[in-house]
Amino acid sequence: MHCPFCQHEDTRVIDSRLADDGTTVRRRRECPQCGERFNTFETAELKLPAIVKSGERRETFDERKLRVSFERALQKRPVASDAVDVAVRTIVNDLRKSGEREVPSRQVGELVMRELKKLDQVAYVRFASVYRKFEDVQAFREEIEKLERDLPGLESLQLSLLGEAGARRGKK
Ligand SMILES: [Zn+2]
Repeated sequence: MHCPFCQHEDTRVIDSRLADDGTTVRRRRECPQCGERFNTFETAELKLPAIVKSGERRETFDERKLRVSFERALQKRPVASDAVDVAVRTIVNDLRKSGEREVPSRQVGELVMRELKKLDQVAYVRFASVYRKFEDVQAFREEIEKLERDLPGLESLQLSLLGEAGARRGKK
């Protein structure tokens, strides 16, 4: 890297060691031109990106809000909360790995849809219908048709799960 004192184009690393319990690498550098020495610190960038809402409004990412979105969509659906944990963690990790400083809220919504699609078809449609604010019935119908093509057999599986839940309730 450039020397911060004389802007010389190259500096030499003369020492390198771990700091802060191994989460940071501290490098001692020396400029061959002016002889000044300085430290650099290297850490993994694990900060989550800021979420950019419509109208350029920015918000810090809130994992609780993400979870609430899932819970709302999955209300009364036969999905274990462990599976929701996994979905939330997957999205958080995706955002972290993206390395972006800012992510449009739309993109987070798409990730939620991706995970919901794996968890529960009804919850997915529920979320998507609100989220995408389908302008007309046609768009909604197309989405359902696409789903049925993508996930053959899933609907009948879920209907049978619903049937089981109903039977259980009936016994009590
Ligand atoms: Zn220098």
